[in-house]
Amino acid sequence: MTSAPPGGQKIADLIAAGRTLSFEFFPPKTDEAERQLEKTIHELAPLRPSFVSVTYGAGGSTRNRTRDIVVQVNSSQPFPAMAHLTCSGHTRAEITGLLDEYAAAGVHNILALAGDPPADGSDPGGDFTYATELVELVRAHPGDFSVGVAAHPELHPRSAGDRAADRRYLAAKLAVADFGVTQFFFEFDDYVRMVDELDALGCTTPVLPGIMPPGASPLAGLKRMAGMNGSVIPAALLDRLEASADDPDALRDIGVEVATDLAQRLLDAGAPGLHLYALNRSASVLRIVENLGPDFRSPG
Ligand code: FAD
Repeated sequence: MTSAPPGGQKIADLIAAGRTLSFEFFPPKTDEAERQLEKTIHELAPLRPSFVSVTYGAGGSTRNRTRDIVVQVNSSQPFPAMAHLTCSGHTRAEITGLLDEYAAAGVHNILALAGDPPADGSDPGGDFTYATELVELVRAHPGDFSVGVAAHPELHPRSAGDRAADRRYLAAKLAVADFGVTQFFFEFDDYVRMVDELDALGCTTPVLPGIMPPGASPLAGLKRMAGMNGSVIPAALLDRLEASADDPDALRDIGVEVATDLAQRLLDAGAPGLHLYALNRSASVLRIVENLGPDFRSPG
């Protein structure tokens, strides 16, 4: 029996085999940012990530850049690259065309997302409303994809506080997917509560916690992302970060400490892996993984 080439490995199989470690990147906009991402991947590759993922601009704004990076990393590194894909504003034919390209290039992992509707409230058009519809399309494609979906421990911002409905929709989405990846969060209890609530609904699909090390980006950027995603920065953490807002090194130190602590607690509680929001930089990620120790991926 021949084993799959690295880029052809399915994330579902990697999660089934043991704890995963993964990093998330975004498609750079400039040549300089592109060189920065190349450098980051070079620096993080020795950590032997299980996989990496690359975000997709809602409505297709980064369609080709996301595809090119995913295909390039997937074919040149000893780990697979997962393509994020949002369906809002896209037609079925557009999505199928992109899936054809991924399958032909040997990419077999997709994070199926709804994407955000336009900020001005206008109708995005297209053939999709919810991520589940995209999961079904990807599943039906002959490309044999492993399919992940998004999960929001603190509820999706559009769920308007209706916890029961949010969890029912999430459980239904996870039931047709292979795994979930969470939005970033800072409170350990939010992840545990989400897993318990899914469990109570009969959903046991693995959900990888997404961890954003504060300080990997300027504080204003973290606050903006947290506000958009419905991720609450606890008051005590915010106070600490604000006291060091003008000192990037101190900010990064706090972030590494906080992210290491959260990651360790999640692993101790049985999380199936860790997904780190690297923001195309290696410094915080390298320190967090070093803090966790070389054996954290071996089942305890
Ligand atoms: P859905 O699962 O469709 O949920 C959206 C809302 O609809 C929720 O409130 C849900 O409860 C509700 N809902 C679901 N099904 C139904 C139903 N049948 N009837 C009524 N209500 C329903 N965005 C990007 O643009 N690019 C990216 O690369 C990207 N990557 C991400 C990666 C991760 C790990 C995460 C967690 C999010 C990412 N996002 C990305 C953000 C995501 O696109 C947004 O959160 C978007 O608003 C919702 O996407 P979703 O897939 O969670 O949607």
